[in-house]
Amino acid sequence: TNDTKDFDEEVESVCPYCGVGCQLSFKVKDGKIKYVDGINGPANENRLCVKGRFGFDYIAHPHRLTKPLIRRDDAPAKGLNVDPANIHTHFREATWDEALDAAANGMKGRGREIAGFGSAKCSNEEAYLFQKIIRQGFGHNNVDHCTRLCHASSVAALLENVGSGAVTATFNEIENADVAIVIGANPTENHPVAATYFKQFTKRGGKLIVMDPRGQGLKRHASHMLQFKPGADVSMLNAIMHVIVDEGLYDQQYIEAFTENWPAMKAHLADFPPEKMAEICGIDADTLRDVARTFAGAKAAMIFWGMGVSQHIHGTDNSRCLISLALMTGQVGRPGTGLHPLRGQNNVQGASDAGLIPMFLPDYKDVTDDGVRSAFTDVWKSGDFSNQKGLTVVEIMHAIHDGDIKGMYILGENPAMSDPDVQHARDALAMLDHLVVQDIFLTETANYADVILPSSAWPEKTGTVTNTNRQVQMGRPAVPPPGDAKEDWWIEVELAKRLGLDWDYTHPSQIFAEMKLNMGSLDNITWERLEQTAVTYPSLSPEDPGQPIVFGDGFPRPEGRARFTPANVIPPDEVPDAEYPHVLITGRQLEHWHTGSMTRRASVLDAVEPEANCSLHPRTLRDLGVKAGDYVRLTTRRGSITIMARADRAVAEGNVFVPFAYVEAAANILTNPSLDPYGKIPEFKFSAVRIEAAEAV
Ligand code: SF4
Repeated sequence: TNDTKDFDEEVESVCPYCGVGCQLSFKVKDGKIKYVDGINGPANENRLCVKGRFGFDYIAHPHRLTKPLIRRDDAPAKGLNVDPANIHTHFREATWDEALDAAANGMKGRGREIAGFGSAKCSNEEAYLFQKIIRQGFGHNNVDHCTRLCHASSVAALLENVGSGAVTATFNEIENADVAIVIGANPTENHPVAATYFKQFTKRGGKLIVMDPRGQGLKRHASHMLQFKPGADVSMLNAIMHVIVDEGLYDQQYIEAFTENWPAMKAHLADFPPEKMAEICGIDADTLRDVARTFAGAKAAMIFWGMGVSQHIHGTDNSRCLISLALMTGQVGRPGTGLHPLRGQNNVQGASDAGLIPMFLPDYKDVTDDGVRSAFTDVWKSGDFSNQKGLTVVEIMHAIHDGDIKGMYILGENPAMSDPDVQHARDALAMLDHLVVQDIFLTETANYADVILPSSAWPEKTGTVTNTNRQVQMGRPAVPPPGDAKEDWWIEVELAKRLGLDWDYTHPSQIFAEMKLNMGSLDNITWERLEQTAVTYPSLSPEDPGQPIVFGDGFPRPEGRARFTPANVIPPDEVPDAEYPHVLITGRQLEHWHTGSMTRRASVLDAVEPEANCSLHPRTLRDLGVKAGDYVRLTTRRGSITIMARADRAVAEGNVFVPFAYVEAAANILTNPSLDPYGKIPEFKFSAVRIEAAEAV
């Protein structure tokens, strides 16, 4: 269709889905997005994947919320029981004044009884306002978002050991590398445009080492495919590092110049010879040695990782190992080198940078530091707020069950689908005496709301976003929000005023200007620049397009040194036993994004993947007496789902992979809420499960 030029207007913006941050052009005709083309953004160079190109008609879906809603006095008991086609049995339409008053009156003056979840799908300005509303409006730090379910453990390890939670190099730097590791990530499904760069890298001779308990699309491009046992990351990575030490392949000069704690690391690794680790991780010693030599022998090497690394109770340890591997080989700070956790949602980097996390203010400034808090309250012209780190996503659900939190403000997040042990989360939401949900659809979470505030989809709003590469980009509205729906920042401002806050923003650019006052990462980046071009932070001057590679001359840590933090092997929280003999791994698939609220309402994407499904090895199916297309029942200590089974040789025997986008067979009914102690991220990537043949539902 892109040759027809059959449109009235072109609007340049950014894709609303994954953290790659592809720039695109909305082609608008008769007030509707007719089609989408990729344009020459720094992360995508005109490319788009199937979601970016075909995933837009969700914004015009009949389920869009177009009026503020208030729960009816005679509504049935709260539950996952609202039919989107018959919403009025539970909610009545209200004016904006009425709904905002009701939302604010239920929260005002309640301090710690109120918690908030903001969104990685909104703009930087909206994320900033959200954390500000909780901190300034309620005086505490119980505010979080989906980074807690995504890369919180990676960020914890990066902050600890290199002093910064963001990537040290853009993924595009792979074009200057000769070796790359991709571990616990499935880029052809989850970061498809980034995956095209990885494939190009192998075409010109780059060696790609893929490490994952599941096979994947990059496998056929890989020089090494290490399909290790789930949960065995630390044993495998320590064994690889053992070889590098044992064979003297480390970069002594780099270690001496830029790191600390090397002697302890070196001593620690003595306990992890490949011969001892091979059985534990399921990779033979020769392969571990070959991978160690290949990586250590690279002139320039990068490490990419995803949620297969982070979503474990030892997620922080997994990332510590990857950081150590890069440091001991001196693979940071030069072209073609670096550490890159591939960020999930389109603005999870920006929302984290903007302080939408319970332990950090914007730019990862410590909430326990009195000077830091006063720098913010000076700008906010308000009194102090708590110096206690706030509760995280899963902890907030526990606090509701404990009666400590009684109301919530949730913007664009869907914990009734995304939390581990999701029935526990749903029960918590039902217990709240006041739940305000701001969203574009009646999400599963909105089912439990007392007040629903209809907001804008990404193609309907103005604001900046920051992708996995630290590139700050401008989003522009192609169409107006439907009905009475409003931009999220406008709703936040109106709500804040009713909470008694002195907010007078009339445009997102004013919010961005305020963010800059306490965010050094945005130095030299102005709204006016972003209207012209993307800028990668840090930008060293008003003309500098930004630094794709950082830490070439030291790290933002004491004495400029990065740290080696040794990691011990910690088994998964629950290991298979006679009752639950298999391993459950959850994740995403190409066509559906996160909890499915957008992609399951995008006609092309939903047509390709219309039904909940799980993947099992053909031999596992045979052992169960089940054929592909039949149904299986999956049961863990949390609950059961019945779901259609697919044959997939990429899944190891005895494992089952379940995407978490489908409410009718919600993967998170099954998952384990146990947390990594540092990042507080749940163990989505390993639960003990029983698989049985079942009848179709
Ligand atoms: Fe959108 Fe990510 Fe696909 Fe790019 S790779 S088009 S950002 S979903």
